[in-house]
Amino acid sequence: MKFISTRGKETATGAQAIARGIASDGGLFVPEFFPAVTQEEMEGMLSMNYAERAALVLGKYLDEYDPAGLKAACEKAYGQFEEGDAAPLVKIDGSLYMLELFHGPTCAFKDLALTLLPYLLRTGCDMAGIREDILILVATSGDTGKAALEGFKDAPGVKIQVFYPNDGVSKMQKLQMATQEGSNVDVVAVRSNFDDCQSAVKEIFTSEACKAELKERGYILSSANSINFGRLAPQIAYYFSAYLDLVSSGQIGMGDKVNFSVPTGNFGNILAAYYAMRMGLPVGKLLCASNKNNILTDFFRTGVYDRRREFYKTMSPSMDILISSNLERLLFELCGRDAALVAQRMERLREEGVYEIGGEEKEELASLFFADWCGEDETVETIYEFFEEYQYPMDTHTACAMYAAADYREKKKDADTPMVVVSTASPYKFPQDVMYAITGNDIKDSFKAIKHLNLATAMKVPKSLSSLRDKKPRFDAVADKGALYAQVLRFAEKK
Ligand SMILES: *Cc1c(COP(=O)(O)O)cnc(C)c1O
Repeated sequence: MKFISTRGKETATGAQAIARGIASDGGLFVPEFFPAVTQEEMEGMLSMNYAERAALVLGKYLDEYDPAGLKAACEKAYGQFEEGDAAPLVKIDGSLYMLELFHGPTCAFKDLALTLLPYLLRTGCDMAGIREDILILVATSGDTGKAALEGFKDAPGVKIQVFYPNDGVSKMQKLQMATQEGSNVDVVAVRSNFDDCQSAVKEIFTSEACKAELKERGYILSSANSINFGRLAPQIAYYFSAYLDLVSSGQIGMGDKVNFSVPTGNFGNILAAYYAMRMGLPVGKLLCASNKNNILTDFFRTGVYDRRREFYKTMSPSMDILISSNLERLLFELCGRDAALVAQRMERLREEGVYEIGGEEKEELASLFFADWCGEDETVETIYEFFEEYQYPMDTHTACAMYAAADYREKKKDADTPMVVVSTASPYKFPQDVMYAITGNDIKDSFKAIKHLNLATAMKVPKSLSSLRDKKPRFDAVADKGALYAQVLRFAEKK
């Protein structure tokens, strides 16, 4: 399988695409075509475990990777999840299901990809003949940073540096990153928002001067953000797995359509659902759920992407994003893979902060997606109502997707099509907000909130979170957004 840049100027093998992370023209790598999963393969996957299903789906794109190696890597990655199930599906009521993606080492869905990415990257670099050490730069809105640090800590030949918005992540997220162990890691808080972190990192990635300077020091750059196809690919697998679980438990018949509701920020998770659909998964609608930063909702409804607006800090910080990187991959498909047009739109977005798509593209969007957004009060209400009715506690991000799912069912009179709500984080990652939603109690201390939440819900507390209490913070660097590259040089200096 070949990969091409959405901006048309670069092609790569899968290994190269993963090693490079982003194309040198600033575009994102996409597969040359969508490989199909056949009916027979679907039947065959019914009896497989999660790791086997993931290896099959990944192998469709990464056909130059050794299949046995891929399977072993999936088994190792997903063996780290609680009770050995990386993506359990929980039935809530009638035709409503939760796909719980938070049982990994850092309690957010990012673990599904970042437990596997070290293997994909290491092997990819070996196949691509890259001899330098790899320097991974990560911009994070909270969860990617921790999951990437955990995935790459002490990996030989790799250094990883994470940038997060100083006031833009939850207390638990900050603590998770600041206490990170490992000899090859670094964490920097940035006095700005996620969009600035992401833009600054992207700029370093595409600067020939930065790349040359780092190469001189013995490093090549790569990315653990969802701009990297290696992040995206493992996410496709859980949509297949959820569907297969519905079939094997007799909830649906093979071929029946299923809707998915996905809490969305950088558009990586929901893009993986779209890729699954293009590979043949029977999907009805994809629900794109935003928080108060509802730029995607506006785009899906009007065809105008306009980032010239206020940025809000919400209780779902991992979705506080105005520049959704992965939307570029969807745009590429919508306009019939016209790379010049994509490049032109991205240039307009960078320079003027706005672009618009055409009528046919808008229609296509509306036929595939339903976009919705959930404000702060609705987030609290959704968590409360769901807990009251089903004793099911959910986190603040998942609540946005649940809100969208309920709204869709009511507005579109479609309550019969099975709806899978993608649950992206453990409620214990945002314990104060969830506790407040459920009980009205405003608890200032995170660990007290965890304890009370446990008493109120009887849901097991993940050890990786409760143990943070006794860990000493190791990182306290704070930098201005213009000084990220200086931080990179500082970190890349120490060999
Ligand atoms: C990252 C994240 C999201 C958004 O996912 P995208 O792939 O960026 O759209 C939603 N919820 C949680 C908990 C996250 O960590």
